[in-house]
Amino acid sequence: MTMSIKPKRLLGTGKFECPLCGRLFADRGEAKKCAINCADKVDLSLTEQETKVLLISDLHCGSYAGLMPPEVKLTDTPRGAVLTHTSSNAQAMLYDAWCEMVDDMSDYKPDLVIVNGDIVDGMNQADGGVHTITNDMYAQADMAADLLSMIPCNCFLITIGSGYHSRMGRNGAPIEPYIADALTKAIQSKGRNPNVTFSSEAIVKLNGKRFHVTHTVGHTNNYQYRSTALMRDMTNMLLNWPTHKFGHVDAIIRGHVHFFINVRMADIEGIITPCWKLRDSFCTKIGLNSQPDIGYVTMDWKRGGDIKVNKRLFHLPDTACRTVDYDGE
Ligand SMILES: [Zn+2]
Ligand SMILES: [Zn+2]
Repeated sequence: MTMSIKPKRLLGTGKFECPLCGRLFADRGEAKKCAINCADKVDLSLTEQETKVLLISDLHCGSYAGLMPPEVKLTDTPRGAVLTHTSSNAQAMLYDAWCEMVDDMSDYKPDLVIVNGDIVDGMNQADGGVHTITNDMYAQADMAADLLSMIPCNCFLITIGSGYHSRMGRNGAPIEPYIADALTKAIQSKGRNPNVTFSSEAIVKLNGKRFHVTHTVGHTNNYQYRSTALMRDMTNMLLNWPTHKFGHVDAIIRGHVHFFINVRMADIEGIITPCWKLRDSFCTKIGLNSQPDIGYVTMDWKRGGDIKVNKRLFHLPDTACRTVDYDGE
């Protein structure tokens, strides 16, 4: 017997409801008999259908601290030469973790992958591009598309990252529409049928749930209040639940701050996804000595049921902080 055909007690009435036809009974056993009888006549596949979503963000492809395959070929246009760039040891471990996630997804079989911003690192204009293996954002985007196409799913939603990482120059166009095209082609090249959508911000409707997805969430150096910005967005979303505003939203999904947080309230779920970038020179420059969370989040639910949020985090070495071992132990 499944949960979906369990009779419902109608509080304060002393009655039990058949969950399939809605008839009321004074006796739980009678309601159950009715439900079993109804179950023979109706299609339960809708209520039993489980939907699975993979949530990732902040790949920062192109950065020396970002995700990259073991080897990347970059075209040096002025010279007409092809340069080969190999990953650092730490990036190799990051890539291994990515492959672990890809393996996990072969079993999990997500229906949708949400890639929530900062997919490439951008031009690194604050440092003249010196912290990137290339600041050609199209090359970074091609690298990201290849990596994303490894995930065994054809349905992707891509959102825009922060302006600094997504835009070509201060006021340039965002790179994500190009990433969506490149990912479409990368999936097609593997003989699969892609469905890739780009949106700067999105309400996602899927198997009876609605999610609000956008990259940015507030950050604080008062670390004990790390969840406050997410809670603020969640309570603000509750204020915007009327149908002429956002409407009912079951979960809000954010990225950007490179640490994982999941906050549950009675009527809404809040998730900040971990990242795919190691601690970089920017963190050391501003004295930010907290380590990033690296990994992925999944959400799954049956129609009418609660969302289950799961995470897998990978513990990787800090590239920015070297251990100098004079003890030699
Ligand atoms: Zn980021
Ligand atoms: Zn960001």
